Amino acid sequence: MEPELDASRPAPVSLLALDSAQAAARFAELGLKPFHAKIARKEVLERGVTDYAQMTALPAAARARLSEELPILSGVELDRAVAHDRTTKLLLSFPGGARPATVETVHIPPRELASGRGATLCVSSQVGCPVACPFCASGRAGLVRNLEPHEIVEQYVRGRAIGMLSRSVVMGIGEPLLNFANLSAALDVVHDEMGLGSRKVTVSTVGFPDRLRRIAPHKPRFQLAISLHTPDQEQRDVLVPAMAGVPIEDVLAAGDDWFEQTGREITYEYVLLANENDTFGHAERLAQRLARRRCTVNLIPFNPVDDSGYGRPTEFAVQRFHATLVERGLIATVRWSRGVESDAACGQLRIRRQA
Ligand code: SF4
Repeated sequence: MEPELDASRPAPVSLLALDSAQAAARFAELGLKPFHAKIARKEVLERGVTDYAQMTALPAAARARLSEELPILSGVELDRAVAHDRTTKLLLSFPGGARPATVETVHIPPRELASGRGATLCVSSQVGCPVACPFCASGRAGLVRNLEPHEIVEQYVRGRAIGMLSRSVVMGIGEPLLNFANLSAALDVVHDEMGLGSRKVTVSTVGFPDRLRRIAPHKPRFQLAISLHTPDQEQRDVLVPAMAGVPIEDVLAAGDDWFEQTGREITYEYVLLANENDTFGHAERLAQRLARRRCTVNLIPFNPVDDSGYGRPTEFAVQRFHATLVERGLIATVRWSRGVESDAACGQLRIRRQA
């Protein structure tokens, strides 16, 4: 593991925190050419190289100088958990702020190694989360701070360093629409310089209607997922506290507007919690809510979090829920979490470290 950050010392500016022009200027200050900056940025963003020593296209003396003067990354890896299926969860710490800024990033390789596909990277957008869903480890301590664009990009670089990436979901810690300017700046880099196309990036939100309506006309370069978790207003007010009082109809109407404006279908995420929202009645009411909408429902059987009070649904309940939606004409998928044995549930590694 890398050494922990020393909070008493100001963090040096990192290469990733500089845009192309700023990087060229900094390289010039260090006696290097602008094209050296271009090479370094390409190595980092396209190949996930995080050590100048490996950048053999740079002169050896420049590599040594850069290693001393301009760190590539600003965060450190505090912990790493690798599951039997090679799902790798990183616990990262970033400098700045009074409280520790730790987030999780998960690298999920394809099930079939021979498929030739790259991994899916699950990325965090904030340190902590203000939405405070009671079943989620990440929401427990509330929001610490927003992640900076380069801190979001750094998660992609660290993921790329583990292995090739084919897809990404902004579904880790945080509510992306509450840090949208920074996320958007980061995704520009991810699309333009790391080569992940807009259909390969999914942003998952609890669905603030006003924000969705403000963003949609700009034709954002990502797929949208809205976490619904229940068809019942009273229960959503409890399961998604930051949305208490926001009518589910408004969220769905904003989703319809999004589809109209962007031409991209929405995925509705639904965490199945044992005996809470996994009944036949819930499935029927959800199907009624989503009837005649062009969308996909992604069912996520809950991954138990210590003392959250919520449990994993039975396989029977999951299959019944799925079949009920499909029989009523909806497209539905089930996503079983991978790497359960290595704290795969969102926020568990972070909580374990803080305990
Ligand atoms: S489930 Fe998502 S929105 Fe809810 S608290 Fe956790 S990170 Fe935030």
